Amino acid sequence: MVRSALPATLVAALACLVACGRDRSAHVQPLPKPDGSPALRGGGPARSPRIANYKIDARLDAATHQITASQTLTWTNAGTTPVDTLPFHLYLNAFKNESTLFMRSWHSIEREAPTENWGWIKVDQVSLAGADLTAKWTAGADESVAELALPAPIEPGGTVKLDLKFTAQLPEVFARTGYKGEFHLVGQWFPKIGVRVGPAGAETWECRPFHAFSEFFADFGVYDVSLTVPSTYVVAATGVLVSATESPGGTRTLTYRAEDVHDFVWMADPYMEVISGQAKVEDGTVEVRVLARPEQADFARRHLDAAVGAIQQFSAWFVPYPWPIMTIVDPPMDAVGGAGGMEYPTLVTTSGDSVFARPGLRLPEYVTVHEVGHNWFQGILASNEPVEAWLDEGVNEWADGKVMNELYGARTSAIDWMGWQAEVAALRRAFVTDPGALPSPIASAAFSFVDGRTYGEATYAKTAAALATLEEYVGPSKFAEAMKAYAQAWAFKHPTGKDLFETLQTKLGQDLTWFFGPVWQSVGGIELGIRTAECKDAHAPRGVFGDGPNKKLVTAVEAPDTGSYVCEVVVTNTGTVHVPVDLELRYADDSTERVRWDDKGHGSWERFVIERSTPLVEVWIDPDNKLALASPISHRHRIDGNGAASLRAAAWVASVAHTLMQAVGP
Ligand SMILES: [Zn+2]
Repeated sequence: MVRSALPATLVAALACLVACGRDRSAHVQPLPKPDGSPALRGGGPARSPRIANYKIDARLDAATHQITASQTLTWTNAGTTPVDTLPFHLYLNAFKNESTLFMRSWHSIEREAPTENWGWIKVDQVSLAGADLTAKWTAGADESVAELALPAPIEPGGTVKLDLKFTAQLPEVFARTGYKGEFHLVGQWFPKIGVRVGPAGAETWECRPFHAFSEFFADFGVYDVSLTVPSTYVVAATGVLVSATESPGGTRTLTYRAEDVHDFVWMADPYMEVISGQAKVEDGTVEVRVLARPEQADFARRHLDAAVGAIQQFSAWFVPYPWPIMTIVDPPMDAVGGAGGMEYPTLVTTSGDSVFARPGLRLPEYVTVHEVGHNWFQGILASNEPVEAWLDEGVNEWADGKVMNELYGARTSAIDWMGWQAEVAALRRAFVTDPGALPSPIASAAFSFVDGRTYGEATYAKTAAALATLEEYVGPSKFAEAMKAYAQAWAFKHPTGKDLFETLQTKLGQDLTWFFGPVWQSVGGIELGIRTAECKDAHAPRGVFGDGPNKKLVTAVEAPDTGSYVCEVVVTNTGTVHVPVDLELRYADDSTERVRWDDKGHGSWERFVIERSTPLVEVWIDPDNKLALASPISHRHRIDGNGAASLRAAAWVASVAHTLMQAVGP
């Protein structure tokens, strides 16, 4: 998902500026035509092991916002040990009351939460091959999980087919799912089996209670989902529309199929309109659709352009988008705080529309690029979000900045408006906390961060900065090749951070543990400073030389000043991350010289001694701004008459201003 800097109350206020006061009435929608394309672009064989497969028939009661459904789960034991218990996520129960783990952890991030109109899910019946197992269904200590004791173990390679009936009550839209008025975003809505992880012979279930900082983790499979909704509703869903038929009582049933995905989401709303375009990828085209209400039509066009561009770039840089359709839902303004900026396979929601998002102020585009990007970083490369959130959010964030630069220009990727220009990465660096000051390392499980702000900044911004720093160190083109190799090797699997690091090291042909260890496992960052920078008049050595008859006194007369200077610069790094650093030295005659401190994992200081014809006047650490991970303050130091180095802009405020100028200056 995307993390919004705007509180929900402000989003709601902005919503009114765009959309309040509209009268409308729902009318019967034309029956949609099936998409007529296979669920995988061009058909073709399974891309994934297809461990967890779902057939769901669901009916939406739009008045009560309740879903009744039957579900058949076909699950295969792909491990090497028998399985006698199946754990399930019941994510909607996170929104059942204030005692759930989700709600308790949600309050710690001080965002709005429901005070009524709670959400829940209840499994009404469970059966296996006709035998009723409902009594064997046990709620977890936190009701967002439950488990089923099986009458007989499933042996390795064996498959189980489980029938469930369930009722799901959507909450008023909140934390990625729910309704607002007639708008419904139906996410995390069905009983979903956990994932078995770990080495052969020691597999364990991964099925944790839903925590406010954590997202999702599931096995790939095939979804065949029939949705019965009022005929006045427009529907969008994961996958392709296979059939659409009118049903009794002013309803219709739409059946979708999705292959090699690990989740299924749908949206139903009476007022959405669709625009579409095409993205070209190396082996074909992808139909891109944006659904938005009419008052957001101007933004829909911007989201469409961003989505088309993003699909093309992510496909070219990593692996081609494998499905025929990508849908972007632009939620209504009064629902965007809860429903906007969330990713699912082949369908994402966006946000960023507001009266302030003028063309050239690219928050709407950024959100779309970010959510579309998640179809690679978690959709295709299905890492464990609760345990390693950085592996999708942070890697995606790094890639998003590059995609934005590609689509909108390197200097204007975030802002190009009224003469103001800014790049995404520079803006991010200017506005987030010093990465070295975060109290939890990047490689922390999402639920173990000290607070929501640290989770967000470490997972998103610090990870993106770390990857950008590494990219500069190894060279952008080599890094791009290595990241592509990672995507190709781990597509439709469950990569871990270790897998990413090993792939990068192998592909780059070097040991990078000196970087990965401190950056991911420790708190702290790159804390650079100038300890001393001073110049003395140069002359031959003076003093007493030799002994006895050869003893000779050399004074300033014998060894006069040569007219040049011996300058000494001591640069320090008091952080935990040590990387090669460039220094630019500027002299009184305006000439400059570069030196490099090749500090890879050792040393907290380095001394440079240089003789020049004019004295040193300024030292600039990291003049090319390559160290995105460094503390975001000015690294430009002026040398005063006494040889002391001081920040060029002495006051902290001025230092921040300098960084901002780097971020937003032309
Ligand atoms: Zn995200």
